[in-house]
Amino acid sequence: MKWVSTRGASPPISFVDALFAGTAPDGGLYMPERLDPLPPGTVERLAGAARARDIVTIGTTIGAHLLKDEITEPAMHALVKDALGFPVPLVQVTDRSWALELFHGPTLAFKDVGARVQARLLHHFTDGTPLTILVATSGDTGSAVAQAFHRVPDARVVVLYPEGKVSDVQEAQMASLGDNITALAVQGTFDDCQALVKRAFADDDLRRHVWLTPANSINLGRLLPQAFYYFTLAGSPACDVVSVPSGNFGNLTAGLIAKRIGLPIRHFVAATNVNDSVPVYLKSGHYEPRPSITTVANAMDVGAPSNFERVQALYHSDLAALRKDVDGYAYGDARVVAEIASVHRRHGYVLDPHSAIAWLALQDALVQEPDARGVFLATAHPAKFREIVEPAIGQPVPLPPELADALRRPRQSISMPAEYSALERFLRS
Ligand SMILES: *Cc1c(COP(=O)(O)O)cnc(C)c1O
Repeated sequence: MKWVSTRGASPPISFVDALFAGTAPDGGLYMPERLDPLPPGTVERLAGAARARDIVTIGTTIGAHLLKDEITEPAMHALVKDALGFPVPLVQVTDRSWALELFHGPTLAFKDVGARVQARLLHHFTDGTPLTILVATSGDTGSAVAQAFHRVPDARVVVLYPEGKVSDVQEAQMASLGDNITALAVQGTFDDCQALVKRAFADDDLRRHVWLTPANSINLGRLLPQAFYYFTLAGSPACDVVSVPSGNFGNLTAGLIAKRIGLPIRHFVAATNVNDSVPVYLKSGHYEPRPSITTVANAMDVGAPSNFERVQALYHSDLAALRKDVDGYAYGDARVVAEIASVHRRHGYVLDPHSAIAWLALQDALVQEPDARGVFLATAHPAKFREIVEPAIGQPVPLPPELADALRRPRQSISMPAEYSALERFLRS
């Protein structure tokens, strides 16, 4: 099986090469050249594992299917077991709505799933050559990647974040790990961090000396494992509609892959904040990526979502076909904050701002389909966004032990000017 660029102008490559490459030479994103359906009876068999909330069995089956020429089922099992040692509960909130809680990993956000499996895939396919994972972050990605690779042998992680511009919790999660994780606090903006990382990847001389790998959300190693948790809905009564809080659209892409290989989800809802280029496209047929706008759901502040290119590739840019599977809804901050308060009051469930957007979109979708039941993906623990959640619900959100620990540990980030020579010196050392 080969992996091909969404833009079709790069040679097809193996999964291993795509895993280490990041983007394709033509600027596109790698996708499987075809998606084979699961063998008959697989989804029924996984329904038992789903009832037991056994993500390891599910991830082994789905991962081994998607990567069948590249990794054996026992190797996949070992890797998934090591990566996903946390629960993925399905919690009923109303008679027609369930929350699929994806935030019980070490950084309390769903990015742990993709990042932790990716880390172990990279390690599985290296032969002991030291590897440097270089990543720029505005907060959440960096903490998930840093935690995911912490103490993974032969891997060194270098995270660049804008000094003073990430939350206290996010900084603690990146800068308090030590060992093979280095946090560089760049004296500049997130865009400066991204530009520095881009320049390092374009520096051929540097790359002859240091084996660099990206770890952003467009990497297949992060994208594919996200299909696993959708299969924890196998056999559930709530599979009519699944609402996905979307920013870069990796999560939704993984859901569409799950459906394509056989998970019977009737349709998806792409839920966004006011960065609504995709919902607008679904309604009007015009796709206009825009600069991002800051919102209370900041992990979804993406005006030009990169994985949308993958969604288009899955549907051969056929808008009518895409509309059959995906609806789009968008919400402003005031509505989101009011809904956090209201859901807490009416149902005793505490939403973070990202999950609240998915909840809102699910409710709007269920109005259109009075007989349907649905799931919204809860992507972050409310404590991670307590400065928004606590005033909304009028009470404190207790910190889970992982967060409390991270906040207590000493920080060891290195402050660095936003200059390439400084980064290069560091990477070569
Ligand atoms: C990254 C993130 C999202 C958006 O996911 P995409 O795959 O980029 O669409 C939603 N919620 C939270 C909490 C996130 O960290």
